[in-house]
Amino acid sequence: MPTPPPASSRLTVRFWGVRGSIPTPEAGFLGVGGNTACVEVRAADGTALVLDAGTGARALGYALAAEAAGEPGEVHLALSHFHWDHLQGLPFFAPLYAPGQTVRFYAATDDHRIHALLRGQMTSPYFPVPFGDLAAATETVRVHDGEPFGVGPMTVRPFPLNHPQGAHGFRIEADGAVLVYATDYEHGSPAHDEGLREVAHGADVLISDAQYTPDEYALRRGWGHTTWEHATDLAAAAGVGRLLLFHHDPSHDDAALDRIGTLARERFAATELAVEGLEVTL
Ligand SMILES: [Zn+2]
Ligand SMILES: [Zn+2]
Repeated sequence: MPTPPPASSRLTVRFWGVRGSIPTPEAGFLGVGGNTACVEVRAADGTALVLDAGTGARALGYALAAEAAGEPGEVHLALSHFHWDHLQGLPFFAPLYAPGQTVRFYAATDDHRIHALLRGQMTSPYFPVPFGDLAAATETVRVHDGEPFGVGPMTVRPFPLNHPQGAHGFRIEADGAVLVYATDYEHGSPAHDEGLREVAHGADVLISDAQYTPDEYALRRGWGHTTWEHATDLAAAAGVGRLLLFHHDPSHDDAALDRIGTLARERFAATELAVEGLEVTL
C-alpha cells in the first residue's frame, strides 16, 4: 500500500512499471524492473492520477484497492496511447472490479473510440471478463492537444508526440510543481521536437523515453522511440531540474542500464534511471 505523500510535497511520483514494449520478468532485469509503463502521480491532497496501464498497473491496482478499503472512490487514469505495453495491466487492475469505484479514463481520442479500444483487449477470446461486466463504473474523457484539464488540484495538459499511430504526453502542474511525462516518442520531427522542448521548459522533473542507445537507434529509425542521448539533450535544452530515463528496452538488463545511466549523467548530471518502486517528490 502506498504511503501518503509527506505534507510538504506538491507532487509525488511512484514508478510501478518502467519497461518498454514487453515485460521482462527475468533474472538480471529486476533491479530496474520488468513491468511495463505505469506511473502514479499524487497531489498533496491525496488525489491520484495514473499515467498508463502497462503491467505495472496490476500492483498499483492492489495498492489503490487496499487504500480505498471498500469505500467508494475515483481513480483517474490517463493513457498516452493504446499500445499493449501501456494497456495490458488493465484487465488485472483491481479498482475495475470494486463496486462503488469509478475509473475515469482520459485519452486524446473520441469517447466512443476510447471505450471501443478498452473493450477490445478484453473481448472474447482474449480475456474471460468483458469490459462491460466490470463492477466499477467506467467513464471516458476525451482530451485535446494543449487544452488543460483538471484532476483534483492538478492541471494536466496533453501534447502530441511523434510515434507510430500517435501518442500523447502530459504536463502536470500543482502548486507550482511541474512534471512532464513524455514516453513513446521519436526525435527528428521538427514540429514535435520544438513542441516537446516548449512543454518541458523549466519542468522540475521530466520523465522521458530513452529506449535505445545511439547505436541501436541507427537500426531502429521509425520505430517511434528515442535514445538516452537525445533525452539528455532535451533535458538540457529545456532546463529541467531532473531527468528520469524511462521505457527501457526489453533487451537492456540491469548492467546495460547501469552503463546507460552513467553515460547519460556525463551529458546531463541530474539524470537517473526510472526504476520500479522509485519514488520522486516535487
Ligand atoms: Zn510503449
Ligand atoms: Zn507505443
